[in-house]
Amino acid sequence: MSEVLVLVDHVDGEVRKTTAEMLTAARRLGEPSAVFVGQGYAAAQESLARHGAVKVYLAEEPVYAEHLVAPVAELLADLVGRTAPTAVLIASSNDGKEIAGRLAIKTSSGVVTDAVDVQATDGGVSTTQSVFAGSYTVTSQVTQGSPVITVKPNSITAEEAPATPVEESVTVQISDVARSARITARAAKEQSGRPSLAEAAIVVSGGRGTGGDFGPVETLADALGAAVGASRAAVDAGWYPHSHQVGQTGVSVSPQLYVAAGISGAIQHRAGMQTSKTIVAVNKDEEAPIFELVDYGVVGDLFTVLPQAAEQIQSRKS
Ligand code: FAD
Repeated sequence: MSEVLVLVDHVDGEVRKTTAEMLTAARRLGEPSAVFVGQGYAAAQESLARHGAVKVYLAEEPVYAEHLVAPVAELLADLVGRTAPTAVLIASSNDGKEIAGRLAIKTSSGVVTDAVDVQATDGGVSTTQSVFAGSYTVTSQVTQGSPVITVKPNSITAEEAPATPVEESVTVQISDVARSARITARAAKEQSGRPSLAEAAIVVSGGRGTGGDFGPVETLADALGAAVGASRAAVDAGWYPHSHQVGQTGVSVSPQLYVAAGISGAIQHRAGMQTSKTIVAVNKDEEAPIFELVDYGVVGDLFTVLPQAAEQIQSRKS
């Protein structure tokens, strides 16, 4: 069976959920080989094995941490040349998409970004994307080279399939061009204690209807263990940081549950959340467009509904 390369998405060995999702997808296509780049493999080892990595390529040299993504693309290009994989799966982050683009050029392969599903077909690999604010589903197939596919977080349910991976250290001669952008400083982002927006299984978002008071939104988010999102109207008003904006020009999320509170449901907002598995809206206007796409809608004042919901959830938890 042919290999499927999965670029491990991790921070200092702490494996992100997307990696388990990609390994699950990879098993549909062939034998998953994880590509671990950077430091901290000891922390990642157990999770990779549990999610079915048959092989792990280890690239732990400092060059990958010292430079932007170009060396990672060169490493993957080398592995593609050696293994001719059925596909290369990479997380759909900004870095992931840049690596995918560079890799596709280096290997003369087709690239598909933001895939929400991958399947094996007779002729290769079929990918599904949700486009134009989720109003179209596109199925495509790369016809040249080894398909390079970025997979959207939360699109595929991770399943365990314990394996005992064979580990292989990989050393690749990284070009001077790839070393031309050096990282000079790093500063850890202030932690809110909440999960990251793009990966959270639950997102609670607030809009102009909050009037600038995100207290009820945060309280419900904390009761659910959720990330907090915001509409552009809310972030443009300075009520919440821009990094939390959900939508066409913000973060694209696809959680199991998305709660929109005081958000009207403009097309640009939908573009970033329409693929959520279950959508709940709280809006005091029963004509609000958001109600057209919800699974569950509450017509009411968010300052009444959200605290009640949070209280019920807390009391059921205790
Ligand atoms: P509004 O449309 O003003 O809706 C507020 C809602 O709150 C109303 O439905 C109202 O009934 C309800 N409400 C008020 N008070 C309460 C209360 N007490 N309890 C319950 N409900 C209440 N928007 C994004 O979100 N993300 C994007 O990425 C984005 N990108 C854009 C890109 C472009 C090029 C353009 C042109 C626009 C973009 N927008 C984006 C803006 C988008 O068009 C909308 O203007 C924006 O989403 C509206 O935000 P909102 O729903 O919070 O506000």
